[in-house]
Amino acid sequence: MGSDPADVTRALPLLAMPAAGSRDPRPGLSGLSGEQVTTWLEEHQQPGYRAAQLADHLWSCAAQSTPELHTLPQALRADLAADFRVTTLVDTEIRPADNGLTQKALHRLDDGRLVESVLMRYPARGWRRARATVCISSQAGCAVGCPFCATGELGFERDLETSEIVDQARFWRHWLAGVGQRLTNVVFMGMGEPLLNTDRVLAAAEALTDPSRFGLGARHVTISTSGVVPGMERLIEERPQYTLAVSLHAARPALRDVLVPLNRKYPVEEVVDAAFRYAATTGRRVTYEYVMIDGINDTHDDASALARLLRGQHAHVNLIPMNPVAHTPWKPSSTERTEAFANQLRSAEIGATVRRNRGVEIGAACGQLAADRAGVPAPAAVARRRQVLVDQSASALARAGH
Ligand code: SAH
Ligand code: SF4
Repeated sequence: MGSDPADVTRALPLLAMPAAGSRDPRPGLSGLSGEQVTTWLEEHQQPGYRAAQLADHLWSCAAQSTPELHTLPQALRADLAADFRVTTLVDTEIRPADNGLTQKALHRLDDGRLVESVLMRYPARGWRRARATVCISSQAGCAVGCPFCATGELGFERDLETSEIVDQARFWRHWLAGVGQRLTNVVFMGMGEPLLNTDRVLAAAEALTDPSRFGLGARHVTISTSGVVPGMERLIEERPQYTLAVSLHAARPALRDVLVPLNRKYPVEEVVDAAFRYAATTGRRVTYEYVMIDGINDTHDDASALARLLRGQHAHVNLIPMNPVAHTPWKPSSTERTEAFANQLRSAEIGATVRRNRGVEIGAACGQLAADRAGVPAPAAVARRRQVLVDQSASALARAGH
C-alpha cells in the first residue's frame, strides 16, 4: 500500500496546510451519551416536541449527516450550535484505491492535527453478505514507536476526543448512505494505540454499539492493541463483547523489545496471558496480528516460538506482509516464506490466515498519509535510523539465538 509522497501531496491539499490552530471549547455532539443528549434537550424544550422524540431524531441526524439537522426547529439548532460542534472534522480529503473499494481519508481537526481513517468495502460473495469496514484512529501519532509503522515514526501528538473518534465512523456512514450502503464493521486499527486512550475509545465504542445511536453489533467492533496490559485488564473487567486483536509481531522477548518497544514494559507472556483471560471471560476468540518482516521475525524458529506461546489458546493468527515504510531497512517476507510460516502454525493446531490485499492489514496504510505530511526526512537521518534498526535487530536476533 505504498504511495508516492509527491502524488499524495498533490491529491491532498490538507497536507500542505499549516498545523497551527486552537481547540474549539465546545464538545462534539457525537461524543455525548444518549442520556446527556436527553438531558440537554429537556433543558431546551421546544413546544410540541418531547425530549425523547427529539433525542431519537437528533441521533439519527447526528449519526448520518449535518444537513439533516435543518429539519429541527431553528431555535433548537441555534442552541445546539452554541453548545456543541456538530462535527469535529473540520475538513476531509478522500483518496480512492483498489478501484474505489478502498477509500482513505485524511481528516483535519480543529487544532490542525491530521488523522486518518480508511473505508474497505467487500462485495457480497456466496453466502457472505456485503461488508463495509472502517478503520479509525484513536490518537494523533503514537507513543509506542514500533519501527515498522509510519504512525510510530511520527511520535505522539495527542489523544483524540470521543467525538473525534466517533465522527470518523460517522463520516463514512454518511458517505456510504450516499451510495446506498451500510457501515457494518469498525476496527480501531488506524493511528494510535487505542488502549493508551482507553476512556475515550471505550466511550466511542459504546456510541458505535448503542442501538439508539450507531447500533453496530459489539462483535463488529475490533480493538487492536500492541499489548497495553492494564487496558486489556479493563476490557476483561468491563466485559464488553468487542473483538480484541493483539499486535504480537514476535514471540521471542528480545526481538519483540525491538519490534514493539512496549514489550519492555508489558512483556509478551503477560500480554498473551491477558488475551487468554479475555477469551476465557468473553468467549470471544482473540486475533493476533503478526507483521511478516523478511529475515527478521519470519523464520522456522520464530514460528515454533509463536506456536509454543499460543498453545491451547482460543486464538487465530493473521500474517500480514510488512508494508514498506521509508525509515526502515526491512522488506516484507516472500509469499513462500509467509505460507510456510502459516503452515507451521497450522500443523501446531493454531489457526492462521495470510492477509494479502486489504482487510486488517489496512492498518499499515493508516499513518502513511499523515507521515507524508511531516515531510521527507533528510537522507542522512533516514540512513542513521535504518542503521540503528539494523544494529538493534541484529543484536536482538543474536540474543534470541537465531
Ligand atoms: N496501535 C494499535 C492499533 C493501530 S496499528 C496496534 O498496534 O495494534 C494497526 C495494525 O497495523 C497493527 O497490527 C500494526 O502492527 C499494523 N501495522 C503498522 N505498520 C505496519 C506496516 N508497515 N506493515 C504492516 N502492518 C503494519
Ligand atoms: Fe503505535 Fe500500533 Fe503503530 Fe505500534 S503499530 S507505533 S502501537 S500505531
